Parts: sequence; C-alpha cells; structure tokens
Amino acid sequence: MRERLADLHIHSTFSDGLWDVRTIFIKAKERGLSTISITDHDTVAGIEEAIKISKEMEMEFIPGVEISSYYKQRDVHILGYFINWENSAFVKKLDKMRKIREKRAKIIIEKLKELGMDIPYSRVLEVAGKSPVARPHIAHVMVEKGYVSSVEESFEKYIGDNGPAYYPKILYTPSDVISMIKKYRGISILAHPGRLPEEMVKEIIDMGVDGIEVFYPEHTEETVERLKKLARDRGLLITGGSDCHGGLKGKEYLGEVKLDYVYVEEMKKYVSSCCIFPV
Ligand code: AMP
Ligand code: ZN
Ligand code: FE
Ligand code: FE
Repeated sequence: MRERLADLHIHSTFSDGLWDVRTIFIKAKERGLSTISITDHDTVAGIEEAIKISKEMEMEFIPGVEISSYYKQRDVHILGYFINWENSAFVKKLDKMRKIREKRAKIIIEKLKELGMDIPYSRVLEVAGKSPVARPHIAHVMVEKGYVSSVEESFEKYIGDNGPAYYPKILYTPSDVISMIKKYRGISILAHPGRLPEEMVKEIIDMGVDGIEVFYPEHTEETVERLKKLARDRGLLITGGSDCHGGLKGKEYLGEVKLDYVYVEEMKKYVSSCCIFPV
C-alpha cells in the first residue's frame, strides 16, 4: 500500500484561499497526499462540497475549521477537527464571528481612510464573496486601487498585526473556542503555536486544548522538537499542516507538510474514545 500522508491545514475560496475545493483535491493528490482537511477561517460552508469531491477522488477528507480567538492582545487560532459541522447552533456561533468580521472590516477601512486611502466597503464584500470578510480581501482592493503593489505590501505597511490600520476580531477567547469545539464533538488543536510566546502556549494548554499543531512550514526543526516534547509531556495530540492559501502569501505551501498517518490514527482513536455523546 502507498504511504499515507496528510495535510490538515488548508484554506479554500470559502475563506481567504485562492483555490476552490476541487483544485485543492487535485493538487493535493498530485503532491502525494492521501488525506486532507480544509480548515477555512470561521466557516464550515465548504465541507459538504469537500466530502463529495473526496469520494469522487478516492481521497480521505477530515472535516475541519480554523476559529479565531483573541487573548492578551494576540490573535490565537484554534483548529477544530471531526466537528459536528451540520449542527445549526454551532453554525450560528460561527455566524456571530462573520458579523464581527464585517464590523471590524469597516473599522480597518476607516483607519485606511485616515491614512489617505479610499477603500469602498462594497467592493471588499464583493471580493470576499461567500467568504467571511478577511484582511486579504481588503488587501486585494488596496492593490486594485493602486495604493500598494501587492497583498504582502499591504500587510507589511498597513494591515499586518502591528500595522497602523490593524484592528482585531474580538469575540471569543481561546477557552470559549475550546469549549465550543468540545461541545460539538470536535478535537481542538492550537494552530501554529510557534508564533506565540511559549508561556502563552502553556496557558492555552491549561485551558484544555486537545493538541497542538507541531508540523508547520514556519516552524524550525528546533521548534518542532520543542513542541513535540511539550505535546508528549502534556499528553496532547500532535498534528500538522501547510496552511496553504493557494499562493496568497507568495508561495503555495501545499505539500510542504506531509504528516505521518500515525498522528491521524491517534486523532481518530481520541475522537472515538472521548466524544460519544451527540449534541
Ligand atoms: P484575518 O483573518 O482577517 O485577521 O486575516 C488573517 C489572514 O491574512 C491570515 O489567515 C492569512 O491568510 C492572511 N495573511 C496574514 N499575513 C499575511 C501576509 N503577510 N501576506 C498575505 N496574507 C497574509
Ligand atoms: Zn487565512
Ligand atoms: Fe491561522
Ligand atoms: Fe490557517
């Protein structure tokens, strides 16, 4: 049998990725992956289509989502796998974040106006389409209007986390998101922990997260080793993914992380042993 390899962190056009769901499956197969999860920001709208395409293409698909939270002035992302994505109460909680994102986009646009840039909100919504509005959609319009020459430049100069037009999405704490994922029978995983101070990673572990994303393109070998040890010491699941946005961030990333299937098996064992009560 062919080696089974997974990428559990990918974004599609249902959030701020540039590839649609079918393109993701085609490219993932070409790059030797057997198993993928599409983890769009604060939405599960792409999952139904992904399940259909995964059957057609004989690939394994794990339902996923990447939920935004805010803690001590930091953006903290929590991945939710095997979540009960059809539950309407859960979808409503994600819709709340969609509304917060709309309000926040208006604030960012206001800040850009103060900096001399005129970004029509209606055009930003058009670019976002079905996706919850995110900074890359604003960046797209900034490029279109000629204020910057690339999405990267808009993040570097204006809308990046330390930029003058930045404004956060303040709705859920990591603890809220971890409880939400548990309630809807999912596994919660702290995304790209290498971006956060180690103390904060430990605090989030104490909040009850089920695992951490150890394998990630930005993580150096040293970071991977440190996080792996932390996961083992604390009895946590280990996952990994490329965070591919289909070239949004300059590179495609898909295929840069190929997670050994033993980690997926651990996740499956965990989900079947702990999440037996349907909501
Ligand atoms: P938001 O969810 O609206 O806060 O936007 C965050 C998203 O912006 C991330 O998930 C990335 O997809 C994207 N992003 C962050 N930094 C950059 C960057 N330097 N260049 C392009 N996209 C970026
Ligand atoms: Zn993104
Ligand atoms: Fe993220
Ligand atoms: Fe992501």
